[in-house]
Amino acid sequence: MQPLRGTKDILTTEIKIWQKIYEITQKILRVYNYEEIRTPIIESTELFERSIGNFTDIVNKEMYSFEDQKKRSITLRPEGTASIARAFISNKLYADNSIKRLWYLGPMFRYERPQKGRQRQFHQLGIECIGSKTPMADVEVIRLAINLLKDLLVKDEYILEINSIGNLQERELYKNDLVEYLHKYENELDQDSRKRIYQNPLRILDSKNLKTQEILMEGPNLTKYLNKSSSDHFEVVCKNLNYLNIEYKINSYLVRGLDYYNYTAFEIKTKKSNQQNTICGGGRYDNLIEQLGGPSVPAVGWAIGIERLIMLIDKNFIKKIETNSIYIAINNLNNNYMMWDIVKMLEENGLQFELDLTNNNLSKQIKKASQLKKRICLIIGEKEIINNYVTIRWLTTATQQTFKIQELRQYLQYLKRNM
Ligand code: ATP
Ligand code: MG
Repeated sequence: MQPLRGTKDILTTEIKIWQKIYEITQKILRVYNYEEIRTPIIESTELFERSIGNFTDIVNKEMYSFEDQKKRSITLRPEGTASIARAFISNKLYADNSIKRLWYLGPMFRYERPQKGRQRQFHQLGIECIGSKTPMADVEVIRLAINLLKDLLVKDEYILEINSIGNLQERELYKNDLVEYLHKYENELDQDSRKRIYQNPLRILDSKNLKTQEILMEGPNLTKYLNKSSSDHFEVVCKNLNYLNIEYKINSYLVRGLDYYNYTAFEIKTKKSNQQNTICGGGRYDNLIEQLGGPSVPAVGWAIGIERLIMLIDKNFIKKIETNSIYIAINNLNNNYMMWDIVKMLEENGLQFELDLTNNNLSKQIKKASQLKKRICLIIGEKEIINNYVTIRWLTTATQQTFKIQELRQYLQYLKRNM
């Protein structure tokens, strides 16, 4: 049996990295008063159609939707922001008029062609700062993304790209001019872009096709369509990023795939030029909550793809998280009560251990410990029981020491500090 295409098991060694990511995320976000939220994995299909937009790739062709037994259309969430906005409304999180700072981490589902860094079930870590329209909220969330990447020891191989996509009216004007311009070159555009002229022209800016990009370069530029309040907002974001020494590149072709964004849009990309090089995508969405039937509350946030993040994490960092338990080799397993006295001491110290439950002879057990690349094997054999001591064998150097039971407690404390 194989897992479904585009899904995978996350095995035990990899889980350690996930746990570390969770731990570091919690630590960094708590400082800025972000709180974790968990929303359901299934939502009504309508939620995503109304928020992400009907002519986007996600809604058009990537959603996992099905009818439930009462013929309601249900969708496995393709992203987090729509659900958070829904939860914000359903639970009246706006009631106290304060800024809500939320984060989430969980599985998302998109029916795409699986490749490296692109799965059908993948995971996003995201944050949303809801209730502030100042550009400083944009800077706050961007800074947090950068802090996170730094603490996860992602080497400096990434770059923040940022743009202002203005408001709906400004984009509408730009869109009209862009469509008019592109009509002239319709036959030279790539196939996808040709379709998008009629459906979602802004997405053409995302095209990776060189010829299409060349044509776009000569066309209208979105930045020129921004009025004063849009460009002022953007300027404040950039100036604060400068002050914080956060390196960025302004990319006036960056639009992001979802309909609900306005003003600031940004992505963090790896400098490696592979196809799946975006690790983080985000931006401001001031109209989404109102559009979904809630009050008019502005917001800004981002999402990081965990699988893509893990591909970038420093291998030394991963090595550091690998723990090494104490292997316990035991003679006469079923009647070796001294074992429990030692286990109690290990429990007290919170030292990780692994009992050999095979009842094989001791030398076989010690050999097993070496095979498993353990550093320490604690031996409780016949000789040890008679003399009331234990042997600690360092497998890496093949040296060993014995400890009276009364001395062991102290030695374990030493080990705990030094392991
Ligand atoms: P892409 O252009 O690579 O399809 P996207 O614009 O669809 O990305 P977003 O919707 O912005 O992606 O999601 C934010 C992040 O989630 C992405 O930057 C990426 O790291 C991750 N992500 C998105 N889709 C997938 C997927 N199918 N598999 C793994 N990670 C993904
Ligand atoms: Mg995509």
